[in-house]
Amino acid sequence: MSVDTLTAADPIRLEVALGERAYPILIGAGLLERAGEWIAPLLKGRRRVVVITDTNVGPLHLPRLTAGLAAAGVSVDTVTVPAGEGSKSWAGIADLVDRLLDLRVDRGTLLLALGGGVIGDLVGFAAAITMRGVDFVQIPTTLLAQVDSSVGGKTGINTKAGKNLVGSFHQPRLVLADMDCIATLPPRQLRAGYAEIVKHTVLGDAAMFAWLEAGGGAALLAGDRAALAKAVRHSCETKATIVAADEREGGQRALLNLGHTFGHALEAETGFSDTLLHGEAVAIGMVQALDLSVRLGLCPAADKARLVAHLVACGLPVDQQACGGPFDPATLVAHMRLDKKAKAGELTFVLCTGLGSAIVRDGVPESDVLPVLSEAH
Ligand code: NAD
Ligand code: MG
Repeated sequence: MSVDTLTAADPIRLEVALGERAYPILIGAGLLERAGEWIAPLLKGRRRVVVITDTNVGPLHLPRLTAGLAAAGVSVDTVTVPAGEGSKSWAGIADLVDRLLDLRVDRGTLLLALGGGVIGDLVGFAAAITMRGVDFVQIPTTLLAQVDSSVGGKTGINTKAGKNLVGSFHQPRLVLADMDCIATLPPRQLRAGYAEIVKHTVLGDAAMFAWLEAGGGAALLAGDRAALAKAVRHSCETKATIVAADEREGGQRALLNLGHTFGHALEAETGFSDTLLHGEAVAIGMVQALDLSVRLGLCPAADKARLVAHLVACGLPVDQQACGGPFDPATLVAHMRLDKKAKAGELTFVLCTGLGSAIVRDGVPESDVLPVLSEAH
């Protein structure tokens, strides 16, 4: 369908092609009100689901979902957890699983994750381990969750040793991305999610980057639902294609880490706090990845300049100063070596050969990386 005619009657449908674990992603407006249409068929005759949401999202969007399920004769138990990354913890997963067991869930119970990436990761992990595995549905309510975390099946929690170090691969049965949820999102969260949209274009689609640059990005950030749906679709297609080819990150799934090695070091340095949201770190990290690509002679300098100009125009940070830096380059490199994606302390980066084309490069010498980190950008 054309995004210009985005209506509740006609959501965009994509497929994550994972054989017996394949599932659809529906993207549209007014989907929560109709959720029962797609969720009831997953219940195999049962009439009960458990919705898990957080204290911010519940009051805003749960009534629409509950009504949409009731319309299909599905009754709902609700578990609400505190909003924020703190719920993605050992204590948070223990509390959630206990509450699910108190509700007498069984192996046929379907869990619905209504919220951002925190809820999606937490509920996905709870679904993976409760009764040795139950089905779940992702209903992402942040832009970041719609374009990234709800697709691909990575679930988990944070521990003392770091973020996302405990978890499992557990694919959802369905992803429902309702553009109407995005309307209530704080602007800073919206921009942070937008950084992952930009990432999906920079790593694989120059024409889509040009569309964002030419006004698509500004339109979606201003709340244009058709522009939003077009970009969410593009990101989900990109991620779904990569995940279908490499579910457990043995190869090309690593391309999705563009900007993340640099960004992760900044997040570690700023203590994974509100000083720097993940998407903001990815924005700065992408600029640094392109800078490294330019320095290695892989990428035209003009492409890096275009990326910087677009991110600035969208109100995203592009340098360390934006988050209290510049930081000590050696300390940032030390964070990179501890990144769970680093192999044996080797520095691996996703680099660009131009906007729209990315490669993975292992064994990048520290001497090539340090100048990128010392620059005022
Ligand atoms: P989040 O879930 O904490 O949501 C951000 C804030 O927005 C929260 O305060 C939340 O309550 C609020 N919120 C959510 N939806 C809202 C809405 N529609 N209106 C108003 N407020 C709303 O954070 P996030 O950015 O969505 O996700 C970050 C998490 O996702 C991190 O834990 C990260 O590790 C994880 N993640 C996972 C994957 C994956 O592949 N599994 C990928 C990327 C990120
Ligand atoms: Mg990310």
